[in-house]
Amino acid sequence: MVLGNYKQVIAARSTDPEILRKAQDGGIVTQLFAYALDEGIIDGAIVAGPSDEPFKPEPMVATTREELLASRGTRYSISPNMALIKEVTRSYGLDKVGLVGTPCQMQALRKGQLYPVGLRDVADKIALAVGIFCMENFPYQGIIQLVEDHGATKLDNVSKLDIGKGKFWIYTERGATVDLPLKVTHKYEQPGCHVCLDYVANLADISTGSVGTPDGWSSVFVRSAKGDDIWAKAIAAGAFETKPMDSVKPGIDLVTKLATDKITKNQKYLESRATEYGVGKALRNPYI
Ligand SMILES: Cc1cc2nc3c(=O)[nH]c(=O)nc-3n(C[C@H](O)[C@H](O)[C@H](O)COP(=O)(O)OP(=O)(O)OC[C@H]3O[C@@H](n4cnc5c(N)ncnc54)[C@H](O)[C@@H]3O)c2cc1C
Ligand code: SF4
Repeated sequence: MVLGNYKQVIAARSTDPEILRKAQDGGIVTQLFAYALDEGIIDGAIVAGPSDEPFKPEPMVATTREELLASRGTRYSISPNMALIKEVTRSYGLDKVGLVGTPCQMQALRKGQLYPVGLRDVADKIALAVGIFCMENFPYQGIIQLVEDHGATKLDNVSKLDIGKGKFWIYTERGATVDLPLKVTHKYEQPGCHVCLDYVANLADISTGSVGTPDGWSSVFVRSAKGDDIWAKAIAAGAFETKPMDSVKPGIDLVTKLATDKITKNQKYLESRATEYGVGKALRNPYI
């Protein structure tokens, strides 16, 4: 069950060239929200928007296609999207909310819906939760160190950052590429990520990531009944090009392997917290 419950898994990409131009992978997140906004399935979405500093995400409520387009691409740093989950239904006045987030943010959303402490009238206003795969995240300072110090590249000149094929990739505006081995990145990871047991956003309505499919495409898990309904309508409307997952390389086996590696490693660390930190003492385990 390392991949969670799902109704179908597909390789897909947006059919909209404008979305694809700056999307991280197949533009699944932006295309799903743009389609849902057009159809009135959502009135807006909480996304990780750009900020004044390069590649530093800032949670924002996007209510137009332009705002959704501005949020394309992965910012490998913490974006507390859940901080807006209540306000989006209050001062922003949204009744049908879209939300994108990492697996932990999907967990926070579902917990908030089932145990709505301080979240009155929020649960039933969530119309579409899109999860993105996540191996680990980085504090913004870590991204600066990786790109500017290890990568000897000014973050201002970077057009895209990516983690894939065992490397941290830095692409510059002028067409240069710098890659760092992942062993360099480990010490910059957010420590809280080391107790995380979800890779493919098991609790989202639809989850997506790059692993498993060729460049420019995405792996998509359609999970809930709501997600299935929206996905079917988006396909019927021609929003996505799809291929069977078993027809693409490297395919679902690599997704399963990475999910298993993450969960096994973090489960081990979680267990070590019960015995290896202080005599007769344990560090807290949030899962028990
Ligand atoms: C920290 C992190 C680690 C990741 N690790 C993996 C991995 O190990 N394997 C894998 O296959 N995929 C991973 N991804 C997901 C991948 O990088 C893409 O975000 C995903 O495939 C969506 O691409 P897209 O083209 O569909 O999205 P786009 O259409 O380009 O849209 C990207 C969306 O992601 C949102 N977003 C960007 N940064 C963040 C953030 N920091 N927090 C929350 N939302 C954000 C934006 O708001 C935007 O809506 C990771 C993403 C993040 C943020
Ligand atoms: S590794 Fe887990 S805790 Fe860390 S950002 Fe990703 S989903 Fe959240």
